[in-house]
Amino acid sequence: MSYVEKLLKYQEEDEKLLKVERELSNSPERKNLVQAVNFVTKATEKLEALDGKALSLEATFKELDEKYAEVAETLAEFDNLEELLEGGADISFYKKNISQITDKLKSLKQDIAALNKAIKESNEEFQNLYAKNRTMQKQGKEFQETYEKLKAEKRKESEIIKVELSKLAQDIAPEVMQRYQMKRSERIFPILCPAKDGRCSKCGYELSLAGKEKLSSGGVVECDNCHRFVYKG
Ligand SMILES: [Zn+2]
Repeated sequence: MSYVEKLLKYQEEDEKLLKVERELSNSPERKNLVQAVNFVTKATEKLEALDGKALSLEATFKELDEKYAEVAETLAEFDNLEELLEGGADISFYKKNISQITDKLKSLKQDIAALNKAIKESNEEFQNLYAKNRTMQKQGKEFQETYEKLKAEKRKESEIIKVELSKLAQDIAPEVMQRYQMKRSERIFPILCPAKDGRCSKCGYELSLAGKEKLSSGGVVECDNCHRFVYKG
């Protein structure tokens, strides 16, 4: 068997391994698991952010609440207004003051109501997301188990093919095998392809003159474009 034939036989067997690998990576079992993990990761980040937001809203609420109490207290000072007026105080001055303070209180009350609404909404968002996240975490565990089962099955299939591959590799020069495996890890497949009209049959790139010569003497050249091994077809 020629060196190209040996490599082609190896590649044929290797394609079976690739198929098993792809079946696992494209499986709905893996897709489900990845989706669940992504959801939980994002939801956890969002929950943390909402938690931080809740703290800052509460702090603002406390500030406004204190300010409201403070302003309300100022207003209480005018309770003895009658006495003050009897004492000859200027009524227009107090009227103006009271109206200003009342306006301030009104505006503070509005701010507090808006803040309360924001706190309530943020809290609801947190609760909803928390519940969803819990459900997804549980589901994710189930997905993980199903995926692990499939993975174990595929591993068994792979092991059988790998035994066959290592037998075939014994007939191939180690440096050639090494280059083959390198391309395999770069997700190039098929790694070997025949030449067609002096071009790589996979990507159509023209081979160099030296490359063409090497092919006619039974050698293998690397395509300058897609880096596959090209042999005489
Ligand atoms: Zn090519």
